[in-house]
Amino acid sequence: MSGNLWTEEQFNCPVCLDLPNEPVTIPCGHSYCMGCIKDYWSKDNPRSPGVYSCPQCRQTFCPKPSLSRNTMLAEAVEQLRKGALTTSARESIRRLLSCWKMNLHPSLRS
Ligand SMILES: [Zn+2]
Ligand SMILES: [Zn+2]
Repeated sequence: MSGNLWTEEQFNCPVCLDLPNEPVTIPCGHSYCMGCIKDYWSKDNPRSPGVYSCPQCRQTFCPKPSLSRNTMLAEAVEQLRKGALTTSARESIRRLLSCWKMNLHPSLRS
């Protein structure tokens, strides 16, 4: 259920469907372009103002999570753009990303 699932598409920003520019990862673990997620969150949500949701999994955040550039993902995207991301590099990125997600969600570490 893992391994082969890690493809270029998983790096893509679900909003613009392209490799993310200035990638940021939000607390649910999904990644977007800094610009796309900022734009998405700048629109008022009439049903629940002040609540910010992930466009992909609909997990909600309140208050708005701070957005910081995911340096590791930015590097991976850079390599992907050059077509140079090897299978082992992908694997280490996948591991790093899941560790990183665990740190954000200690409850997942059962
Ligand atoms: Zn985007
Ligand atoms: Zn999400």
